[in-house]
Amino acid sequence: MENTAQMNFEFNENQRMIADMIRKFGEEHIKPKMMEWDENQIFPVEVFKKLGELGLMGVLVPTEYGGSGFSYTEYVTAIVEVSKICGSIGLSMAAHNSLCTGHILAFGNEEQKKKYLPKLATAEWIGAWGLTEVGTGSDAGGMMTTAVADGDFFVINGSKNFITHGKSGNVAVVIVRTGEKGDSHGMSAFIVEKGTAGFSAGRKENKLGMRASETTELIFDNCRVHKSQLLGNIGEGFIQAMKVLDGGRISIASLSVGIAKGAFEAAVKYSKERQQFGKAISEFQGIAFKLADMATEIEAAELLTYQAADLKNRHKKVTKESAFAKYYASEVAVRTANEAVQVFGGYGYTKDFPVEKFYRDAKLCTIGEGTSEIQKLVIAREILK
Ligand SMILES: Cc1cc2nc3c(=O)[nH]c(=O)nc-3n(C[C@H](O)[C@H](O)[C@H](O)COP(=O)(O)OP(=O)(O)OC[C@H]3O[C@@H](n4cnc5c(N)ncnc54)[C@H](O)[C@@H]3O)c2cc1C
Repeated sequence: MENTAQMNFEFNENQRMIADMIRKFGEEHIKPKMMEWDENQIFPVEVFKKLGELGLMGVLVPTEYGGSGFSYTEYVTAIVEVSKICGSIGLSMAAHNSLCTGHILAFGNEEQKKKYLPKLATAEWIGAWGLTEVGTGSDAGGMMTTAVADGDFFVINGSKNFITHGKSGNVAVVIVRTGEKGDSHGMSAFIVEKGTAGFSAGRKENKLGMRASETTELIFDNCRVHKSQLLGNIGEGFIQAMKVLDGGRISIASLSVGIAKGAFEAAVKYSKERQQFGKAISEFQGIAFKLADMATEIEAAELLTYQAADLKNRHKKVTKESAFAKYYASEVAVRTANEAVQVFGGYGYTKDFPVEKFYRDAKLCTIGEGTSEIQKLVIAREILK
C-alpha cells in the first residue's frame, strides 16, 4: 500500500491553544447544562453563538471571509476536544463547519461565499445540509425531491429527512434531483434560506443519543429558489456532495475519537477510585486490560484521523483515508463507550456518571455520514480499483 503519511505527532501551537480554550469553555458553558439539554432535547443555540465568537464555527473558513483560516489538523483537534465533553455539541459543530459551510466554501462562487461565509463562520447564522430522504439514506443518489426550472427560478418539491439544524438553521444547502433518477449528474445543490416561501421544518426526531443536536425533516412545497442560489452548475450536486462527505467523514472520525477519549478518561479515573475486594478495581487485570485495549484503539483511531486531515491539508484525494478513519474511529467509539460503562458497573448505567451518555452518543458515529457498511463499500471500491 502506498505510504501516505507525513505527520508531526506533536500538537502545534494552534492546536494547544484550541484545546485549552475548549477545555475552559466546556467547564463554563457546556458541562453545567449538558445533561439538562440531553434530557429535554434542547438545542442550545446560545452555545454555538459563543463558539462562533471563539472562531470555532468557521474553523476552516479563510480569514478574508471572517473565519479562523485553520487547516484540517486544527479542525480535528477542535472537534475531538468538544466531543470529549459532549457529543451533541461536537456533532452540531461538525455538521455546521464541514457540511453546510464546507459545501459553500468548496463550491460557492465569490458572491455566494461573500454573502454566506461571514455569517456562518461567526455563527450569526446556523447552517444545515440536506442530502438524506426518508426512502434514501445510504442510497442517497435515488432521491425523490426535485427542482424544476421556471424562468429565473427553480421550484423545489419534496422533503429531506434527519437534517441536523433543520429547524434552527438559518440557511440550508440541499441536494435535489434536476435530472433522471439513477444519473449521478442528475442532481444539483442549492442554497435555501429560512423564510423562503414553501420551505419549512417538519418533525423533530426523538433520539437515543446526540439529543442536544437538533435533527428534523425539511419540507419543500413549491419552494421557489432563484437560480443565483445554485452551487456550481446544474448536475454537479451529487458529485459535490460526495466530495463534501470525504471531508465530513474526517469530522465524524474526530467526533468518534473525542467521545472515545471522554469515555476512556472517565473509566481510568473511576477505576483508580473504586475499591472492591480491598483494592482499586484498576489493579484487577480484567479491568486493566480493558483500559489497555481502549487506549491502543483510541491511539490508532486518532492516527488515522490525523492522517486523513494531513492529506486533506495537502489537497490529496482522501476518499479511502477518510473512510478508514470514519469506519475505524466510530467502531472504536462504540466499543470504548461500551467497555467504559462496564468499568463503572451499575453506576455506569445511571445518569450520575458521564459514561451512559457517551454510550448513547457514540452509536450515531457508526451511522451518520455513511454507515460502517457504506465505509467498507467505499474502502473496498478504492482498494479493488
Ligand atoms: C442524528 C443524525 C443526524 C443526521 N444528520 C444528517 C444531516 O445533517 N444531513 C443529511 O443529509 N443526513 C443526515 N443524517 C442521515 C444519515 O446520514 C443517514 O441516516 C445514514 O446515511 C444512513 O441512512 P439510513 O438511515 O436511511 O439507513 P439505510 O440506508 O436504510 O441503511 C440501513 C442499514 O442497511 C445497511 N446498508 C444499506 N445499503 C447497504 C449496502 N449497499 N451494503 C451493505 N449494507 C447496506 C446500512 O449500513 C444500515 O445498516 C443524520 C442521521 C442521524 C441519525
